[in-house]
Amino acid sequence: MGQTHYILIGGGIAGMMLAAKIVLEGSRVTLFDSGSPHSASGNAAGMFNPITGKNHLQTWRAEQLLGALEAFFETPEFQPLSKYLYKLPIYKPFNSVSEYNHGLGVRANTPELLCIEEQPLMESVFHNPIGGLKIGRSGWLDIPAFLKALRGILETHFHFRYEAARILPEHIYLSQQKIIWDSEAFFFDGLVLCQGAEQALKLLWDLPVIPNKGQGIKIEGEFEIPFILSSGIYILPLGKNRFNVGATYEWEFSHPFPDSVGLKILTEALDSVLAAPYRIIDHYAGIRPTTRDRRPLVGTHPVHRCLHVFSGFGTKGVLLSAYFSAVLWDYISGKNTFLEKEYDILRFYHKEIIPLPEGANMRSIIRLMAP
Ligand SMILES: Cc1cc2nc3c(=O)[nH]c(=O)nc-3n(C[C@H](O)[C@H](O)[C@H](O)COP(=O)(O)OP(=O)(O)OC[C@H]3O[C@@H](n4cnc5c(N)ncnc54)[C@H](O)[C@@H]3O)c2cc1C
Repeated sequence: MGQTHYILIGGGIAGMMLAAKIVLEGSRVTLFDSGSPHSASGNAAGMFNPITGKNHLQTWRAEQLLGALEAFFETPEFQPLSKYLYKLPIYKPFNSVSEYNHGLGVRANTPELLCIEEQPLMESVFHNPIGGLKIGRSGWLDIPAFLKALRGILETHFHFRYEAARILPEHIYLSQQKIIWDSEAFFFDGLVLCQGAEQALKLLWDLPVIPNKGQGIKIEGEFEIPFILSSGIYILPLGKNRFNVGATYEWEFSHPFPDSVGLKILTEALDSVLAAPYRIIDHYAGIRPTTRDRRPLVGTHPVHRCLHVFSGFGTKGVLLSAYFSAVLWDYISGKNTFLEKEYDILRFYHKEIIPLPEGANMRSIIRLMAP
């Protein structure tokens, strides 16, 4: 059998991590990316954190997710990319004695990940009057730099082609397993939608990707912080006295751009944490692809078996994308015949399955689905 060819639509962290997995296993990938300035990956802080939420519980599948992320950067072909991965503790100041007591409890449950700072740290820089909780095995990935360098490695050493283009439904001929773009026919064994929050995911049924807008700012000041500070907002050290600060979580928004409402939320939160003066040097926004059950959207269409979905990574694209690339690829390539309901796209499948007419492209399918 010849080399199989997969087409991926979307070159954020989801599409690129999946592409890396597929080419590493010997198949060919063509990836189309429209280069949206509002993509989540282009605007993310890139943090990974094995502890989630106010109660400081372990993130869902933390061990597997961290293991997959670490394994990716240990893969010899991708090892040079580890310079974009910054391992750094996250420090969460306690806001009350009850938070301190709660911290003692959770620390006892996960001593390998957590430690307590009993004394305030760097009080001239930020407020933490009764110490805080420090989380280990955390850090951040410089996603834009990482994606650029990963693309270079894939193009140089693997069967990988990158096309800067927006694929529309009328370009996709599913029954013939081809995309026609710019007068060229691209035949595929599988087509994977990795489009983040973009609506095209709803091509075949009402797959609920809920767009969530996040705004952040970059600041500089005369100080350094040797960890990621997390206190309602995060203050992430970028080096050279610069910091990434974020982020808002906006479920309702009328445009994808940074705005004054977001800026106010961020500066008010920052002023309540930071004791040192700072200057704002950038303000940005991106759209996260979230889901209502906070689990990713990974899987294969029940009838059109060549069509796959890889999205819904919400606030955790860094932690989730390496692990789920392997999950989806193992399923597509037949190494694994089972996807768990928790993340399988079929958990949202409730509509009548529409048969695909011979020669139809995706636009005809949308017309068929119209009420
Ligand atoms: C402000 C902010 C802070 C964040 N902080 C963190 C964090 O600290 N840690 C973390 O893990 N996550 C964070 N996230 C979330 C993270 O960014 C996402 O989980 C992740 O980037 C999603 O990646 P994706 O590839 O699925 O989507 P995206 O990054 O949005 O990529 C989708 C890509 O598909 C392309 N595309 C869409 N439709 C088409 C089409 N028809 N044809 C061709 N191309 C198409 C787009 O141009 C885009 O490049 C943050 C997000 C924001 C906005």
